[in-house]
Amino acid sequence: MINMMYYVFVTVLEVKNLNLGFNCECGFRQALFDVSFSLEKGRIHALVGESGCGKTISAMSILGLLPKTAKITGGEIIYNGENLLNKKNINKIRGSKIALIPQDPMTSLNPLYTIGNQLLEVINIHQGLKGEKAYKKAVEALEAVQIPCASERMNSYPHEFSGGMKQRAIIAMALACNAEILIADEPTTALDVTIQAQIMNLLNQIKPDTSILLITHDLALVGENADEVSVMYAGRIVENAPAKEFFENPSHPYSQALLRSLPSDRANKPETIQGQPPSIRQDISGCRFHPRCDRCMEICTDKIPVLENIGANHYRACFLCD
Ligand code: SF4
Repeated sequence: MINMMYYVFVTVLEVKNLNLGFNCECGFRQALFDVSFSLEKGRIHALVGESGCGKTISAMSILGLLPKTAKITGGEIIYNGENLLNKKNINKIRGSKIALIPQDPMTSLNPLYTIGNQLLEVINIHQGLKGEKAYKKAVEALEAVQIPCASERMNSYPHEFSGGMKQRAIIAMALACNAEILIADEPTTALDVTIQAQIMNLLNQIKPDTSILLITHDLALVGENADEVSVMYAGRIVENAPAKEFFENPSHPYSQALLRSLPSDRANKPETIQGQPPSIRQDISGCRFHPRCDRCMEICTDKIPVLENIGANHYRACFLCD
């Protein structure tokens, strides 16, 4: 008898056909084009691509933390059955239900307040706890992220914490609020390799309760930690697949080029991808990757490829037939 196991993942966040642009001195310029992805409970979904491809602005749209010049022109962000784009009081969700680990832990904490003060403020605002209960919760959160002597460290100022400890303190804030979703925007970029490993171990430990949207350009980190991968290029998702499938069968020429740019062994030198991602001021017809694609065909300069299913939960936007 064949013993088959099926896993059903519960979607906790769904971004559907998100379109966003910026008012620039040269007029309104589109930056995100029909961006769609979903985050499942207990999973790490990695959003990857070079800098300037739209990863961070997609994440900031979820939190409603957009610059004044940005304008969302279409789409939905569904959380708990509600479209966050229509929600008047997103502050109630931001920080408590959906938390952010920003790129730079060094500048994310207020240098004038102790770590304890900053944790207690978050717990007070998002959990409504005060006094001893709030203090206990703050110490527990610091312990959960393995800050040694947590109760004593409550009195430390950010400059007394190392980079890794600062990042852990920020994760502790998300844990203290029982955040259901954590948006980790390049959470380890500013840290050295051993601290990177500690932070990623910690994220893996909390993921059964807290689903994680991991924004990164570090494919090695993605390979070791993510469950699902979406590749962004110039404001579009060009490939989406479960992580194992993505690394075994990358299908979009841009994904393949990104993977070829990783150091593998001494015999195979990493390859560079010629050129740069386009700025939002550049008009590019057809496939936005075509000026850099070594497999570009006539159709690619004229028509826009859409995401299509090419295998089990594997999607790609490209005109290639293979
Ligand atoms: Fe390259 Fe054409 Fe595919 Fe774009 S659609 S990635 S240009 S082959």
